[in-house]
Amino acid sequence: RTVYVNGEYLPETEAKVSIFDRAFLMGDGVYEVTSVLDGKLIDFDGHAARLARSLKELDMQAPCTTEELLEIHRKLVEINGIEEGMVYLQVTRGAAADRDFVFPDPEEVKPTLVLFTQNKPGLADSPAAKKGIKVISIEDVRWGRRDIKTVQLLYPSMGKMMAKKAGVDDAWMVEDGFVTEGTSNNAYFIKGNKIVTRALSNDILHGITRAAVLRFAAEAQMEVEERNFTIAEAQAADEAFITSASTFVMPVVEIDGAALGDGAPGPRALRLREIYLEESRKAAI
Ligand code: PLP
Repeated sequence: RTVYVNGEYLPETEAKVSIFDRAFLMGDGVYEVTSVLDGKLIDFDGHAARLARSLKELDMQAPCTTEELLEIHRKLVEINGIEEGMVYLQVTRGAAADRDFVFPDPEEVKPTLVLFTQNKPGLADSPAAKKGIKVISIEDVRWGRRDIKTVQLLYPSMGKMMAKKAGVDDAWMVEDGFVTEGTSNNAYFIKGNKIVTRALSNDILHGITRAAVLRFAAEAQMEVEERNFTIAEAQAADEAFITSASTFVMPVVEIDGAALGDGAPGPRALRLREIYLEESRKAAI
């Protein structure tokens, strides 16, 4: 596989980043994951805009322009022959001369930019989407700026491990009694023709897939309600689902051991998935 690191396209075994890189030492980096369907990028503009916002919030320099980023994405997709899969991008504050909590002078230390592709044939025609996924709830103990897409993913990683140990697929995080989001996705339930999901704030990541799906809700004759909700309310709902760039719209069929409806993916979640895939394919670049 060919990867990109700081201006160079290299075999993955030859790509190198300094041990003093601040993402390695301090989690001082941000990332984006953009999916690829039919060899084209889904929602690239949304991901590029969120990246710019993450960089700004952390006072981090942009490594290059959005046009250049698009070119790198496209080149990697082409070189690696990706029809369905993902492009992972990471920007870090760079490698200072030594370990120091204080940010280095941006004149002296340039950001690190790394991109690689992941080939995932069958991403759209996913067997998981036909079966639905099961989740457990766990306490949300992450920091207070979850709206910034940092590489500090230890707790989400622990959450996925808790889910795995519990014999399910993922975890929804709960803070002060209300669901924030999934470990790597946004969380929703459906009651009647209403889609309910937590409102945007610093408490959750502003999902690019979330924005698109809420935009398409009207096409599915559904209404959107952005508000706090509990696990009990989601368990009593007709359907539930998650969204992310790598899962699109994924039905949830069980929450903390309680099956939703008849325990199979619900028709509205599946319809939203269909609309999302269709519209995203049309708009892909
Ligand atoms: N919430 C969290 C915590 C995430 O990590 C992600 C994606 O990685 C999402 C939500 C979904 O965001 P997007 O739809 O932009 O992939």
